[in-house]
Amino acid sequence: MDVVNRYITINNHINGAPQDSDFELKASPLSLSLDPASNVVIVKNLYVSIDPYQLNRMKSFSASQKTSDFAVAIVPGEAIDTYGVGKVVASTNPEFDKGDIVVGLLNWGEFTVIKAGGMLNKLNPMGFPLSYHVGILGFSGLTAYAGLFEICKPKKGEKVFVSAALGSVGNLVGQFAKLSGCYVVGCAGSKEKVALLKEKLGFDDAFNYREETDLNSTLKRYFPNGIDIYFDNVGGEMQEVAVSNMNIDGRIAVCGVISEYLDSEKRAAPSMIEVIYKRIKIQGFLAGDYLNIFGDFLSTTCDRLRTGKIQPLEDISDGVESIPSAFISLYRGQNIGKKIVKIAEE
Ligand code: NAP
Repeated sequence: MDVVNRYITINNHINGAPQDSDFELKASPLSLSLDPASNVVIVKNLYVSIDPYQLNRMKSFSASQKTSDFAVAIVPGEAIDTYGVGKVVASTNPEFDKGDIVVGLLNWGEFTVIKAGGMLNKLNPMGFPLSYHVGILGFSGLTAYAGLFEICKPKKGEKVFVSAALGSVGNLVGQFAKLSGCYVVGCAGSKEKVALLKEKLGFDDAFNYREETDLNSTLKRYFPNGIDIYFDNVGGEMQEVAVSNMNIDGRIAVCGVISEYLDSEKRAAPSMIEVIYKRIKIQGFLAGDYLNIFGDFLSTTCDRLRTGKIQPLEDISDGVESIPSAFISLYRGQNIGKKIVKIAEE
């Protein structure tokens, strides 16, 4: 049987803010009748992840492209891989059967053909919606968990600051830190987001960074006794002022620097004198390096979801054609929580 596979590609490298015109919806025929010797799996994509780092893959050059298998450059015209959940519709790989629900590296498209050795695992949804396995129970959750617990090692009573706090990673960092007994303040880009942080997610406080004219004084106001942990999702000026407000022995997990992704000339220049004399630990990390704690992360997070101690926050768009606008929305601060595109019904 033949199907038509519609998928998203870029028309050109993108070196500034992504626009609709940078993307194209392509269609090509795909045969679901496989050669028995082929050892491939064809997955009907159900939910695909939309993540800021993809922009760095779309640039003509980014330092990130040479450092991780997940971050290699995207070639204009070709399919774009991403984390996602799908259903096997044809398989000659003995490890997978038609009908299996799977999670792994799929495409921004309707179907993915995965050769032997591709990143794909059977998924036990454990009673949770499949979309959770793209976000809170997938890489976004692991990123928050690994960055907070493996790098920042929060202790009860410590003061934690999170940027892009209502985003996919940030909202979970704040919720995890609250459960560790920390005092948590987040920043986000609108009044509505600030209200959600305080009223729905239980952050102790939150502010809209777009309304502040002097971020250094802002942090002094929210942290009169200094910051112990900064979970950095944005880089740039916020990172500089966070360093200036850190306490002795403070820890900073540099998760992402989204404010620098649109402009390669824009870089944070935190005071190294502060870093030295306050003995601040600043560490970049990649969630993919923490697969060894995925089991721990999953059982802890599932428990907390089941007992209502953590709120899932998802922002789901519909249909393959909505992928470009979903992706662009991340750079306009329009998403509330984990941005996902639902491609098809199970
Ligand atoms: P997200 O926070 O759900 O979405 C991006 C958010 O960033 C937007 O909603 C927007 O919120 C904020 N933003 C956009 N442009 C900005 C700017 N110029 N300055 C400040 N904030 C801006 O995305 P996410 O998936 O959770 O990712 C958050 C960060 O973690 C990103 O930097 C990403 O690259 C990184 N990340 C790293 C890893 C890793 O393994 N190290 C894994 C996943 C994600 P506002 O309304 O607050 O502006």
